[in-house]
Amino acid sequence: MDRHTEKRHQKDIEKHRSYGEMKLRKHAGKMRRSAGAQKKEGRIERAVSEENWEEVLDEQLVAQARRRGRVSIDDLVDGLRAGAGEESTAESAEWNDAAIVIASSSGRCRVVRDGEELDCTVPSDLATRQKSALAVGDRVLVESDGEANRIGIVLPRRSALVRPDPINPHRQRLIVANVDVVVHVVSIKTPPLRPRLIDRYLIAIQRGGALPALCVNKIDLASPSELAAELAKLEPYKALGHPVVLCSTESGEGIAELRAIVQGTTCALVGHSGVGKSSILNALDASLQLAIGDLHRRGSGRHTTTSSTLHDLGGSTYVIDTPGIREFGLWNLTLATLRDYFPELAEPAVLCRFNDCTHLHEPGCEVKRLVDGGEISPARYDTYVRLAQECGAPT
Ligand code: GDP
Ligand code: ZN
Repeated sequence: MDRHTEKRHQKDIEKHRSYGEMKLRKHAGKMRRSAGAQKKEGRIERAVSEENWEEVLDEQLVAQARRRGRVSIDDLVDGLRAGAGEESTAESAEWNDAAIVIASSSGRCRVVRDGEELDCTVPSDLATRQKSALAVGDRVLVESDGEANRIGIVLPRRSALVRPDPINPHRQRLIVANVDVVVHVVSIKTPPLRPRLIDRYLIAIQRGGALPALCVNKIDLASPSELAAELAKLEPYKALGHPVVLCSTESGEGIAELRAIVQGTTCALVGHSGVGKSSILNALDASLQLAIGDLHRRGSGRHTTTSSTLHDLGGSTYVIDTPGIREFGLWNLTLATLRDYFPELAEPAVLCRFNDCTHLHEPGCEVKRLVDGGEISPARYDTYVRLAQECGAPT
């Protein structure tokens, strides 16, 4: 990645962070409006301003918990005011500062709060929809009584990567939460490069409010001519301004460049199993010593990583490795929103004969003309057409 792209990437991260903040503020705005109503009912005593919205948000969350009948309001407010680490009586629950979820499995999860790892149970109403309601990266309030810890409330997210549940597509499955950057890892060989999957990930990552980056691993396996042919497929992504890093965990090439992209961020590595996500994490931080899957020995192509885990790489860098995903459905995509993720079609669309041209079947379509002439990537256009059909566009 050249200096220019690196600078732009850093700027984009800042922009996305402030966008995330803005989303939180918006959420707080909603809360604020309902807080007005609650104030009338005498449930909240304070007026909400631009300055104190975060505190009031906390109070709101406490009020929500109270309505759910978890603990008494006085215990909660006392817990919050007392802050982290104070003793609580055996009967009262204690609420401390937000913790971050670093691993999540059925009915349980592991969090870090103030540098300390805690095992928590997940309350049954949350556990029944855990895969869609709680993910690694989530900020949560932990409720402790005596020995046991359990998740109280999941705080609003500034970003999330989701996909439809492969078993029940009407359900959403949350992959990671609150990440700045999502690195889609692909390999040049074993498994082969699949640009269509890249397009799908790009859309999901951007829709979820994170910045995408592409990491092409195993470049040691390709001959120079093979490499050139495969890299040509990645040109459209570079042209769109997405960082593209070529690397090999065998030779170490590109690892420093990838480190520069993830430095100081919370990021996730996503992609098909076997592309080398765990190997890359080990290359970024040798002390992790994650298990590496051997596809050939296992035969079935099963991956070793079965759930997401957040790793602290130091220097405010947190990397989440995720289980391999073979197919990637898109959640709730419509034809109107689909176009936003193919920005290269916007400019030529102005010259299409019909101003509501979908670029699928209309005569006088400038987009199709440029695809035929090779000026717009035929592969990208092909993905556009397929996704438009998935959205219900006439074939
Ligand atoms: P994951 O499923 O994405 O986490 O992939 P792993 O890190 O478990 O790696 C899958 C397989 O690819 C293992 O056999 C690794 O040794 C191999 N591998 C990973 N990175 C590279 C690379 O850069 N070059 C080559 N030749 N093999 C690699
Ligand atoms: Zn058109």
